[in-house]
Amino acid sequence: MDEVTISRAIVESYTKELLDSLQVDVAIAGAGPSGLTAAYYLANAGVKVAVFERRLSVGGGIWGGGMMFNRLVVQDSGKVILDDFGVRTSEYAPDYHIVDAVEMASTLCSQAIKAGTRLFNLVSVEDVVIRENDRISGLVLNWTAVEMAKLHIDPLAIHSRLVIDATGHACEVCQLVVNRVGGKLRTPSGAVMGERSMWAEVAEQRTPKHTVEVYPGLVVSGMAANAVFGAPRMGPIFGGMLLSGKIAADLCVELLKS
Ligand SMILES: Cc1cc2nc3c(=O)[nH]c(=O)nc-3n(C[C@H](O)[C@H](O)[C@H](O)COP(=O)(O)OP(=O)(O)OC[C@H]3O[C@@H](n4cnc5c(N)ncnc54)[C@H](O)[C@@H]3O)c2cc1C
Repeated sequence: MDEVTISRAIVESYTKELLDSLQVDVAIAGAGPSGLTAAYYLANAGVKVAVFERRLSVGGGIWGGGMMFNRLVVQDSGKVILDDFGVRTSEYAPDYHIVDAVEMASTLCSQAIKAGTRLFNLVSVEDVVIRENDRISGLVLNWTAVEMAKLHIDPLAIHSRLVIDATGHACEVCQLVVNRVGGKLRTPSGAVMGERSMWAEVAEQRTPKHTVEVYPGLVVSGMAANAVFGAPRMGPIFGGMLLSGKIAADLCVELLKS
């Protein structure tokens, strides 16, 4: 066995995929349920898509279920999407289905990659690329380790025709647009309106509705959509996240046609 061959295989293979991802159709910030769902449907539609995830593990808030009980709940509308992925559910009551959080996180990730998504973990989005007419045209990236160690090392940029902010509660890409670009979002206030206290029913209804192109070239999905539009959080019911990811993918496919 030759260690150098192992090293070369890893470096060459990773670098090849990264080089091939410097220009994509859709770049997604965050590999939680909404980001992974969007990636899966985009890749299946033949769209060139890359996901950048800050953490070592992908799946965002899925793994811990509700208060570390690693189970989640979806309604019928969310179950349809889990069926697409091949994630098993069991009916608890009419319109309430239980999901194993670990199965869901691992399967969403596995299926998104098998569909053709390029997934880069340990990479943080630290800025956006702005081009003509203030359009979001890519992401500025750095290793999470650089961010954590507060090293003064410049990032690299990738270009994309569209970006999806799937960064969860923090809605980091939208915050960058407001705070660094000085942009006005398509929200009633033009700013990030901030997440409200938990109200599962309202939040589940609003998450899909708030999945929109919130700024030219920037679509917001999942918990980030709720935070941007001032909707409530919802706790461990995940149908809204899945539906939002699918809506974001469908919206991007439409926008890419124009
Ligand atoms: C640690 C944590 C705690 C949570 N606690 C609650 C709670 O108490 N109540 C509640 O209602 N919901 C909570 N949620 C969210 C809940 O799990 C959501 O319903 C669901 O997970 C949101 O899905 P999402 O895809 O929108 O985002 P998330 O599941 O939050 O995934 C977002 C992903 O984006 C990544 N990310 C963020 N910023 C960047 C960046 N700049 N660059 C690259 N990647 C980035 C994150 O690491 C994360 O993996 C929590 C989520 C997390 C991650």
